[in-house]
Amino acid sequence: MALTPHQVYTGGKLERDYEVLVVGAGPAGSAAALAAAEGGCKTLLIDRKNEIGTPVQCGEVVGESLVRHLGIKIPPQAIAAVQDHTRFLLDRRLMVVSHEPYWRSLTLERKIFDKLMAARAAEAGASVQAGTRLMDVSLRDDKVVSATLMHHGKEVVVRPKVVIAADGAHSTVARLLGLKLYPEDAMAKGIEYELVARKRLPSGMHIFLEPEVGLGYGWIIPKGPRRANVGLGVIGMEGSRRDAIIDWAAGNPVISELFDLDQVLEVKRGDAPLPGFLGGPCQGNVLFAGDAAGQTLAFVGEGILPSYACGTGAGAVAASAIRTRSMKKLDCYDRAVKDLMGSELEKGAALKDAILGAWADDSITEGQRTVLCGLIMSECVFPEHVVDLLPLLSRSTTQIAKRVRLDMEKRRMRARISVIRRR
Ligand SMILES: Cc1cc2nc3c(=O)[nH]c(=O)nc-3n(C[C@H](O)[C@H](O)[C@H](O)COP(=O)(O)OP(=O)(O)OC[C@H]3O[C@@H](n4cnc5c(N)ncnc54)[C@H](O)[C@@H]3O)c2cc1C
Repeated sequence: MALTPHQVYTGGKLERDYEVLVVGAGPAGSAAALAAAEGGCKTLLIDRKNEIGTPVQCGEVVGESLVRHLGIKIPPQAIAAVQDHTRFLLDRRLMVVSHEPYWRSLTLERKIFDKLMAARAAEAGASVQAGTRLMDVSLRDDKVVSATLMHHGKEVVVRPKVVIAADGAHSTVARLLGLKLYPEDAMAKGIEYELVARKRLPSGMHIFLEPEVGLGYGWIIPKGPRRANVGLGVIGMEGSRRDAIIDWAAGNPVISELFDLDQVLEVKRGDAPLPGFLGGPCQGNVLFAGDAAGQTLAFVGEGILPSYACGTGAGAVAASAIRTRSMKKLDCYDRAVKDLMGSELEKGAALKDAILGAWADDSITEGQRTVLCGLIMSECVFPEHVVDLLPLLSRSTTQIAKRVRLDMEKRRMRARISVIRRR
């Protein structure tokens, strides 16, 4: 039964007035709801999914250094694996093994992580409603005055003072407000299989940059001794995502040696925004957080913890505005995001720009471009030194490795580079 905007569905637990409505219970939304509830606000967190965290649309890995920097307490039961290094395989001929802090990582079970994060918000007093979708909003003077929700098949109208749009890469709130925070071509398409390996996996996360992938990268993200997410994230991927991963997995020597595609535990797909740092976007009484705001570490695409941190900022700023009855306080969101994230998001945006620049250089071959992009991504080469490296790319792989090794030694990087010998 559809209700008119003036009726309120009273059969469930939803009420009419909330101080903060958080749309989306991913990392950004749950963190926002927790902060708003802890700030004393009557908060409603909704997600259209019937089970928060499912389906997963993510590689599920988080950088250990960011966990420490942000001081986020990850529930131990949400940690599937821990990696103390990352291997970069470039153009199938060079390997960089990095033990640098950024490249140590934890793999999460996001189904568990997301649900427990929403539970934390609930424990702090937020109302949490899975199976509840934002359908529409009404505006007055550019501010959202009411939101129509589909709650277990029934329409409900709520009237929030502040809305936090944490509803992901294809934000419903942004669409309803007629906003485009970043263009469609700043989006990588992702496809991933969770697979069981034929044998024990080599240690570390693997990142593959090679012409067979295109502008982006492939990965193996361990989730256990013989279980891993194997996926691709590509800007401008054309055609079927399943065909792309099946073709790549069959042709890549490391993947094909380790995995059979007839042991697929889960298929995960999604789009990852790569615009880099957009600060804390605020429109009227709406704060955008997480993927909805493009708050990811660009190119690498790490968004779980940045979204969580920015969501915390959004929730805290909303609570402060409501407590002091000053909606002008919402303008502090940008500052809050910068304080929480430090230079991490800006560094991500600079890395992305350097990689896109290298990819656009048609004076070098595709294979050379993937080597260059991989050296920039693994931080073996700083973006400002790319020009010096360009003439070297046409030399032998051994010569490239030798030269980069010297630079790495000078910078005392906890990383090594070697030539991959084909068997
Ligand atoms: C293939 C792939 C691999 C990735 N791998 C990694 C990785 O390994 N590590 C990493 O850090 N990041 C990774 N990311 C990025 C990461 O998944 C996101 O940055 C992160 O999930 C963003 O969190 P969020 O809370 O902003 O949005 P989301 O996690 O997308 O949550 C948004 C929520 O909003 C809900 N929603 C949407 N519309 C509505 C509506 N109208 N009403 C109610 N609810 C709604 C959705 O159901 C969803 O639960 C990956 C992304 C992709 C696509």
